[in-house]
Amino acid sequence: MSTPTIAAIILAAGRGERAGSPADGPKQYRSVGKVPVIARTIGAFARHPKIGRVVVVIHRDDCALLRKAIGAMIDEIVVVSGGPTRQASTLEGLRALSERPPDFVMIHDAARPFVSDELLDRIADALEDDCGVLPALRVSDTIKREDGCGFVRETVSRDNLHASQTPQAFPFAAIRDAHEKARRQGLQDFTDDAAIAEWAGISVRLVAGAPENVKLTWPADIEMADLKLTPRTAVFPDVRTGTGYDVHAFADGDHVRLCGVSIPHEKRLSGHSDADVGLHALTDALLATCGAGDIGTHFPPSDGRWKGADSGLFLRHTANLVRQAGGRISSADVTLVCEAPKIGPHRAQMIAAMAEMLEISPGRISLKATTSEKIGFIGRKEGIAAIASATVVFPGEVPQ
Ligand code: MG
Repeated sequence: MSTPTIAAIILAAGRGERAGSPADGPKQYRSVGKVPVIARTIGAFARHPKIGRVVVVIHRDDCALLRKAIGAMIDEIVVVSGGPTRQASTLEGLRALSERPPDFVMIHDAARPFVSDELLDRIADALEDDCGVLPALRVSDTIKREDGCGFVRETVSRDNLHASQTPQAFPFAAIRDAHEKARRQGLQDFTDDAAIAEWAGISVRLVAGAPENVKLTWPADIEMADLKLTPRTAVFPDVRTGTGYDVHAFADGDHVRLCGVSIPHEKRLSGHSDADVGLHALTDALLATCGAGDIGTHFPPSDGRWKGADSGLFLRHTANLVRQAGGRISSADVTLVCEAPKIGPHRAQMIAAMAEMLEISPGRISLKATTSEKIGFIGRKEGIAAIASATVVFPGEVPQ
């Protein structure tokens, strides 16, 4: 026995008034996730291996809209004009297939773009010569009947109740004949094809529908579908990094001040303040993250207030400036370059001091030391250099 032929009719002639009438046409021509609803729907049927011909029933005014929406796919389908009702449009689709009738036909709403291959398979596999197939979902909500005045008249038992979906599939000749008969008798109130089949005495088997196979009826349905399919826009967090560099020369003395800690040494560092080269570099790095100039802008050596000052003041003041600008200090990294004194024994204390000044956890602070391999002014023990970087996260995003 040869494989039965299955055709599809996609109903797209509705004007979709409930979904609003935007400038871009009826809802089936609007895009969800950048692809027109109708292109998604037609594509699902056109690419399915068990489905042959696809007839799309459109409103006669919508030819250009359809061509624009589906592009080259228009060559794979048959387009016919619909009638004033869904039922009349379905009949036009059935007539378009009559010359070369398929064994079966699936009839689907264009406004259900999320019909899956699995659902189409399930329906195709359930087809029999004397029986239609209806995908449906068991009703899970409690159903109320209204009294017509906005009050509940009664609760309807939901036993054996199903909400019907499309595509609904039928033996072609049987459903076409049922439609022709309904038309001859002037019956046009059927809300789906399974109802016509029922009226015509064609039995209809229920198969499990798919929850995602929703009909896009209201503007909110389209917006929801679009939101679901649109990848979230990438966020570019406003993370800024600043660097700082400083050098101070040795002078006669008995200790140096480095990263907030006094270390006994045969020299001191000369400078206007306490000459804490590490804190100066870090202060500059932090100021750079909010475009606030440099350490000389805020604490000029010409200002007598800073003579011999504790450089911790500079760092605390700068951390406050950063916070006032909305920033959160994420990390700080200081490298001291010197031949002596040895930094290692004081590292933990220096990190603790800077953590306290910046009001961040010690784990966010790095302190490293290196020598200059006896090269240059540092190698000749004429002074100490410091390099620092700071990372600060500001609220919002980096503008485009
Ligand atoms: Mg300095």
